[in-house]
Amino acid sequence: MARPRILYIAGYGRSGSTVLDIVLGSHPSAVGLGEVTYLFEEAVLDRKCACGKPFRECSLWHGALAEVGDPRRAAKTIRVVERRLFLPWLVLGRGLFLPRRRYAAIQGALLAHVRRVCGAPVLVDSSKTARGAAGRALALAWFLAEDVRVIHLVRDAREVLRSLVATGSNWALEGRASPPRLPAFRAMSGWLLSNLSAAFLGRLLGRRRYLRLRFHDLLDDPEAVLTRICEWAGLDTAGIREAASKRGPFRAGHQVGGNRLRAQREIHIRKPNGDADSLAGLPVRARIAYHLFASLLNRHYGFPARADGGLSWERGS
Ligand SMILES: [Zn+2]
Repeated sequence: MARPRILYIAGYGRSGSTVLDIVLGSHPSAVGLGEVTYLFEEAVLDRKCACGKPFRECSLWHGALAEVGDPRRAAKTIRVVERRLFLPWLVLGRGLFLPRRRYAAIQGALLAHVRRVCGAPVLVDSSKTARGAAGRALALAWFLAEDVRVIHLVRDAREVLRSLVATGSNWALEGRASPPRLPAFRAMSGWLLSNLSAAFLGRLLGRRRYLRLRFHDLLDDPEAVLTRICEWAGLDTAGIREAASKRGPFRAGHQVGGNRLRAQREIHIRKPNGDADSLAGLPVRARIAYHLFASLLNRHYGFPARADGGLSWERGS
């Protein structure tokens, strides 16, 4: 592959982005970086990289942090440019009045450092399109002229609710925020906005640079789905086919981010959970939130209600 490339995993949290980041990062020509957008916040909070070391001591990130300098200032600049609130401004104003030069200098130094250390032509960035980072893929493509390809990862909103009910807020669990009020409403409105933002990115970056993928399909047939991603991303499939056919193991690297999964050094792709696509047993508030915000788009993604005659899992939607 001639030109270095960023595979950007967009969508909502709890959608399997860390799994996909680790899996793609196990390809010999790729490196999984996790939620790179939060590197500087994580470093300020003295949190740990997936390798187990604090970011300031990690063999990959310590050099990037040293090159960029004050992490608080860097985090502030990144958040201003990438937050969803400013996405219309980023699109219409193409960065006018945003600190685009400072942003480009920070991200440019960071990406150059990672490429120098890892030597892989493909970087996997799973910063997603939640509130804080919805504009990231565009900012990297437009302000740094990076070759960005977006994988829009979608998970059935009912599974997202089940995961939320089972484990609670990720950020609260990790001590970064107090438990949110009305968590199901926040989750479902966040699911809706994050997925719409990801689709919007696809429109702006162009069809060839956008691939929508359902997490369920990855769990159902990892070999077929990963082959398709590799072909689309310009990666050879040989590098990942054997592990994909055995569902693992895939080794975590130096992923940044809040998902507890990255603390496991090795993961396998588990088979899909049979009950996850129903609302049965969920609290009333969660069901209301689902119908209010998510049910329409969920059906559009091909996740029908069971009463509609079961589920259809067409490949590579
Ligand atoms: Zn590390």
